[in-house]
Amino acid sequence: MSESFDFIIVGAGSAGCVLADRLTSCGRYRVLLLEAGGKDRNIWIHIPLGYGKLFADAKVNWLYQSEPEPELDNRRIIQPRGKVLGGSSSINGLLYVRGQAEDFDHWRQLGNTGWSFADVLPYFRRAEDQERGEDALHGIGGPLAVSDVSEPHPLCEAFIAAAEQAGFPRNDDFNGPTQEGAGYFQLTARNGRRWSTAAGYLRQAGRRPNLRLVTNALTTRILLSGRRAVGIEYQVGGETHRAHANGEVILAAGAFNSPQLLQLSGIGPAALLQSLGIEVKADMPGVGMDLQDHLQVRLQYRCTEPITMNDIVNSRRRRLAAGLRYFFVRKGLLTIGAGYAGGFFRTGPAATTPDVQVHFIIFSADSVGAALHPFPGFIASVCQLRPESRGFVRIKSADPRQAPAIQPRYLATPNDRDTVVAGLKLLRGIMGQPAMRRYIAAEHAPGRHCASDADLLAFARATGSTVFHPTSTCRMGSDPEAVVDQRLRVCGIERLRVVDGSIMPKVVSGNTNAAVVMIAERGADLILADAKVAA
Ligand SMILES: Cc1cc2nc3c(=O)[nH]c(=O)nc-3n(C[C@H](O)[C@H](O)[C@H](O)COP(=O)(O)OP(=O)(O)OC[C@H]3O[C@@H](n4cnc5c(N)ncnc54)[C@H](O)[C@@H]3O)c2cc1C
Repeated sequence: MSESFDFIIVGAGSAGCVLADRLTSCGRYRVLLLEAGGKDRNIWIHIPLGYGKLFADAKVNWLYQSEPEPELDNRRIIQPRGKVLGGSSSINGLLYVRGQAEDFDHWRQLGNTGWSFADVLPYFRRAEDQERGEDALHGIGGPLAVSDVSEPHPLCEAFIAAAEQAGFPRNDDFNGPTQEGAGYFQLTARNGRRWSTAAGYLRQAGRRPNLRLVTNALTTRILLSGRRAVGIEYQVGGETHRAHANGEVILAAGAFNSPQLLQLSGIGPAALLQSLGIEVKADMPGVGMDLQDHLQVRLQYRCTEPITMNDIVNSRRRRLAAGLRYFFVRKGLLTIGAGYAGGFFRTGPAATTPDVQVHFIIFSADSVGAALHPFPGFIASVCQLRPESRGFVRIKSADPRQAPAIQPRYLATPNDRDTVVAGLKLLRGIMGQPAMRRYIAAEHAPGRHCASDADLLAFARATGSTVFHPTSTCRMGSDPEAVVDQRLRVCGIERLRVVDGSIMPKVVSGNTNAAVVMIAERGADLILADAKVAA
């Protein structure tokens, strides 16, 4: 053992940076934070629109891909994940949406005491520095800056008006009393700059002498003594190191890498581990199971007016003007996240709360990260918020450097297929309203020939892709397949926790970063409370 710490955190992502800050703030504990990626120096991380530049950048992104997806014409679906300080919060689309109060009440109904909406709301509030000010649902003074879009856009105004014409309410706060309706998204940004958890939490924690941060450090396994975690092994530049944890090892490596690390360490489905020659320390069939994700299907439109981002990006003069505008007043094109406006809607009377989310964005391209179209264009996409489909993450080898098999199994159930088709029809209904029609020259994809339910489903299978919200692979619960208990302790293993998006019992009905930050805020309190009792 080269060094000892009270807590070792694996992964400086959305959750890991929160934990590092909260566990070091009292000064009593020595904490080691290990991150496989490097520092967040790439300028495009900090400019919201730079998001598009990070999809294919191996320096900051794990660049995972799914296995061929049986219900998506056997296509492999990209699965980007941040590999840099801030993790996926450094490369994500910045949208700040917590999910529905009912999501967390459902977590509680599944037996997870302490995770109802009333229980978790104080943690959302504690994290938040809400630009609009404080109220019963929002907090100020927290490390996570949340702000409005820098300015309205005529296309977004038209979308919101069209939703109203279609009978849906306008909603100026998706994290307010109700999520339903159409409006602008808020962003994890401040003054036109991305507010990752590295920016919000780690920057202040990094100055503390009791935090040791090691970047470019790949954790390769958890060290166990019987059924107790005692440390971890990690590699930096080809050299292997070990660190000892007097207190706890905390995995915050995300929905793909936390289950991967458990499996590599002998904690997982016995048959899988044995087939790869890994000694089974704990036979836990649930590790890596229950992978959930949001699938999105995008409708693309040709716009009647040159007011889209395509028109700016494709013109050198307008690009330069946009750059200067950002530089001097922090407004415009470069401040846009992965969605500008959007909405949460119910596809039918059976849904008691919104079951689909729409992302409306003022550019168009054939696929995520591809070059923008040479004509004025925009996109509106649909994603089903509470999919029934369940997939898995499974290591393919005992080599920690080899990516695990990732299989979300999108559209595996009839309900999921029906909801996506209903969502596409609902969205077309909005786009057909007068407020929107004046801006639509044509539906570029799929186009008018795609008319029946079967056509729409075929389009979803041929083009659907992720909204990047994998969760639940180390699911919290009290059933035999649960991986962590309600205090986020790995079941049956002492001194080992998982605190990240992988513990969600069910994916939230929204974008996942806010909920991950909340999980880490609450996880930190649980860890500190248990440490006090143990002392
Ligand atoms: C492209 C993209 C767009 C998204 N858009 C949005 C959005 O607009 N709004 C939203 O709310 N959510 C969005 N999300 C999802 C959201 O960002 C994630 O749900 C959230 O960041 C996950 O947090 P996490 O802590 O679970 O994992 P991560 O933030 O991914 O952190 C895991 C960290 O662990 C590190 N790590 C992994 N394995 C090891 C190892 N073996 N050793 C050491 N370190 C390791 C990783 O490098 C990473 O830094 C998006 C995600 C992506 C990828």
